[in-house]
Amino acid sequence: MTRAPRRFRFAPSPNGHLHLGHAYSALLNEKMARQASAEFLVRIEDIDQTRCTPELIAACIADLQWLGLDFEQPLLQSKRMSAYRDAISTLMDQGLLYVCTCSRQMIAQAAGEARDPEGQPLYPQTCKRKAQMFSRDSILRLDMGKALAKTGALTWIEKGQCIAADPSTWGDVVVARKAIGTSYHLSVVVDDAFQGITDVVRGDDLKWQTPIHRLLQALLGLPQPNYHHHGLINHESGRKLAKSQADQSLADLRQQGVTPERARSLLGF
Ligand code: GLU
Ligand code: ZN
Repeated sequence: MTRAPRRFRFAPSPNGHLHLGHAYSALLNEKMARQASAEFLVRIEDIDQTRCTPELIAACIADLQWLGLDFEQPLLQSKRMSAYRDAISTLMDQGLLYVCTCSRQMIAQAAGEARDPEGQPLYPQTCKRKAQMFSRDSILRLDMGKALAKTGALTWIEKGQCIAADPSTWGDVVVARKAIGTSYHLSVVVDDAFQGITDVVRGDDLKWQTPIHRLLQALLGLPQPNYHHHGLINHESGRKLAKSQADQSLADLRQQGVTPERARSLLGF
């Protein structure tokens, strides 16, 4: 029996130019895919159409090609809205979502000292019992208590180790953002499943979001990939490449005459 190939993906959000941190993540994905004789995909996470312009998307793809990465035509999340709507309907039908009409300010005030794992005001469930009218424009939140009652305890595989995933510290997370109709969390799990991604390699900044992804996967009946969160590149590599900051864009480095070989080698590839 032949086993389905493993698949890795690099999934940037082109709401700005790619910088060295992105390059590191993309190169690591490609290297790990190569070592596993797996496929390497690029997915453009452009759900926020007000920020992800066609120019930024083109620049992002050009930067990745400049780095020497080899990939097929990337999947654009902006083309996947109907799949996200279906997933939202599935959650809605299970009675797990509610409409929230609170502004950031209202949440900040009502939250008091309560914070989520990112240090943001924890949503105090103001709208939970309000049964407000739903429209395409609504903010939808997941009823965390109900969701967890359905799935029971969750785990995730991080670098081959099974660890407990507790999404409850995030509270009733937003699964559809105002005027966007989806969210990073929802789209990422729907598309990782759709594309048959077996291995998610991404920065440590997204590590503590993984419990939310595991919860959505469980609720939507989607398979769980293996996760590998990598450290964020230190500014030393950036300093070696250019006089200014490590977070400067790949486009800037290119303009300064940095070659892709040099960029790769200073990032350790
Ligand atoms: N698009 C997300 C970002 O650029 C990353 C998605 C992921 O790797 O899960 O922050
Ligand atoms: Zn609300």
